[in-house]
Amino acid sequence: MITRFAPSPTGPLHLGHAYSAILAHDMARAVGGTFLLRIEDIDTTRARHEWEHQIFDDLTWLGLTWDDDDPMRQSDRSQNYRDALNTLRQIDGVLYPCTCSRKDIIGALSAPQEGDELQYGPDGLIYPGTCRGALWTGDDAPNSQSIRLDMAKALTAIGPKEICFSEDGAPSHIQSKTMCFSHSDLLADVGDIVLSRKDFIGSYHLSVVLDDAAQGITHVVRGEDLFDATKIHVVLQHLLQLPTPTYHHHALIRDAQGKRLAKRDDARAIAKYRADGATPQDIREMVGLP
Ligand code: GLU
Ligand code: ZN
Repeated sequence: MITRFAPSPTGPLHLGHAYSAILAHDMARAVGGTFLLRIEDIDTTRARHEWEHQIFDDLTWLGLTWDDDDPMRQSDRSQNYRDALNTLRQIDGVLYPCTCSRKDIIGALSAPQEGDELQYGPDGLIYPGTCRGALWTGDDAPNSQSIRLDMAKALTAIGPKEICFSEDGAPSHIQSKTMCFSHSDLLADVGDIVLSRKDFIGSYHLSVVLDDAAQGITHVVRGEDLFDATKIHVVLQHLLQLPTPTYHHHALIRDAQGKRLAKRDDARAIAKYRADGATPQDIREMVGLP
């Protein structure tokens, strides 16, 4: 078993992150497996070295150890993302360039009936398809425009194969089950997602799929807020002929009122609890772990 924790160094580590990291770590350690780190610093406008140091320090304080001396960093892997885009590009028409701004997308989606709500999927607003069919010209993955996946064409390329993954919803492995999604689910609820952004080459979805495969991750442990994103990841794994790991989506940490903790709520930063004198065991108890 190889698990991982893949923080984005864009802020302090929170209780929710600590929960994910501890689960992934303990799951691997329980069976003599491997636990790896990955620094998801591809968004260079938001990632900061200082946060990275704080993350390593907090994880160590929590008593976690990882097996890579030099954790993978997404900022080193642009060429891998570029190569994958070029591979996908060989598959008949599955990629197309998109020049729409968020405003353009909202404009195109504006519901004819007032009160209709805009529909969101795991990649944000469900793209209305404005640029679908546009040709990606030029030799290499561009940096000047977004690249989208034509979901209908991608599903045709994959063939009748169902989009499935095994969900291992408990650390004790008792709830293992197969989750499958129909092509119409993917078309309606996911749509044409972004694989390469104007400002950096690999989108979250592309990079996470490539990196999990490169690190040989067998069990992806992460919050259930990413459950729908996993559908995209399985589509990409089929297109890129990569293995699909087992997924373990855990419940999100909530506050005493049952409200989901915001990722940016700095009051819940591990560093803040540390400064207030909490012990690693206190943190484990706060997230409901023994
Ligand atoms: N970097 C992502 C985050 O911090 C993790 C995504 C994942 O685990 O797949 O939310
Ligand atoms: Zn567009």
